[in-house]
Amino acid sequence: MQKDRSNSPAMPSVTGLIHHPYTPPDTFAAPQPGVFKASTVYFPTVADMRQREWKDKSAYTYGLHGTPTTYLLEERLCSLEGGLQCLLVPSGLAALALVALSVLKTGDEVLIPDNAYGPNKALADGELRHFGITHRFYDPMDPQDLSRQITPNTRLVWLEAPGSVSMEFPDLPEMVRRCRERGVLCALDNTWGAGLAFKPFDLLGDGAAGEGSLAVDISAHALTKYPSGGGDVLMGSVITRDAALHLQLKLCHMRLGLGVAANDAETVLRSLPSIGLRYVAHDQTARALAAWWQAQPQCAQLMHPAFEGAPGHVYWQALCDREPGTGLAAGLFSVMIDARFSQAQVDAFCDGLKLFKIGYSWGGPVSLVVPYDIASMRQAWPGHLKPGTLVRFSTGLESAQDLILDLNQSVRAHLPMV
Ligand SMILES: *Cc1c(COP(=O)(O)O)cnc(C)c1O
Repeated sequence: MQKDRSNSPAMPSVTGLIHHPYTPPDTFAAPQPGVFKASTVYFPTVADMRQREWKDKSAYTYGLHGTPTTYLLEERLCSLEGGLQCLLVPSGLAALALVALSVLKTGDEVLIPDNAYGPNKALADGELRHFGITHRFYDPMDPQDLSRQITPNTRLVWLEAPGSVSMEFPDLPEMVRRCRERGVLCALDNTWGAGLAFKPFDLLGDGAAGEGSLAVDISAHALTKYPSGGGDVLMGSVITRDAALHLQLKLCHMRLGLGVAANDAETVLRSLPSIGLRYVAHDQTARALAAWWQAQPQCAQLMHPAFEGAPGHVYWQALCDREPGTGLAAGLFSVMIDARFSQAQVDAFCDGLKLFKIGYSWGGPVSLVVPYDIASMRQAWPGHLKPGTLVRFSTGLESAQDLILDLNQSVRAHLPMV
């Protein structure tokens, strides 16, 4: 017999729960800001909805276009890097992609340093090429080469200081000057400097950010690294000081539907106050480890911009160490392991480390190690690099002494000199 469904259970009314009249008082002050989550944002009236200006931060229109949480993070990141406008995106790579997709069109060319973050090169060789946007790689250590490669089609020049993996520090002010002279936009991947080692919008250190000062046009930052500091958030930012350029980026950002999760923004807001302390700690540990490596016969070359003889050391000094001895240099360095050791031996050395974990990214509490195949990453083997196998270290927040003991045991076990 068919069960009678006409007597279905009465749905309890929760309307009063959803439309509850209580609103908490709006003065709540505490160290951490509130976390606002929304797709929908209410307008008091249709007229308000129609009039709402969504291109600036005067109000709210939709979660994707900003909440109090994301506005706050954007403003704090502007103060970190010395910019005026900021956009948040779901990863550091998305920040690089947003810049490219916002300012480049078919027929344009983008110049990328040959030592750039690999996925930025892959984006140029993939989507950008498919869209009819060409790219060329320039020698990051030769401003003359950059000038030579700029053509009337060049619309964007990427800069990175220092280059990912091989850590050459370029003459950044000179590169920016050359872009300025030719009227080409320049965008810096500022993940390493993080707004702490130098100011991307005040490259001469004259405090005249903005008018009269030497500045990049755009600073892109993988917040995944130092601003997050936990190895647990993926996020990126795109910072500018030009309202028209920001609007161009913002419109593309909106059309692509890029946004970040409120809890991720909260995590970065929670970590930001300690970024200065952490950056210095990562830096000091990296220099202690780099100094240890320099004394090892297995090290054919040390690539750490703060060390004499490292590629581009003088440019690091000029930009980051204006008062000698006070400069900052992040927690990242590479070592060229002498060519007498095979890739298999170097791999065994990395596997033999106990405190250093094998993994990408950096900026978190745990030290990381990755061997890189430079030959496959560059147009040609760079003349300033010794032959060998490159290993990149990123220091976490462990004690330098413990990390050196760990390096020492694995070097002795896997890279014997005899
Ligand atoms: C990590 C990194 C990126 C990309 O950041 P993700 O958040 O991992 O996408 C971009 N540039 C540099 C220099 C980086 O180190």
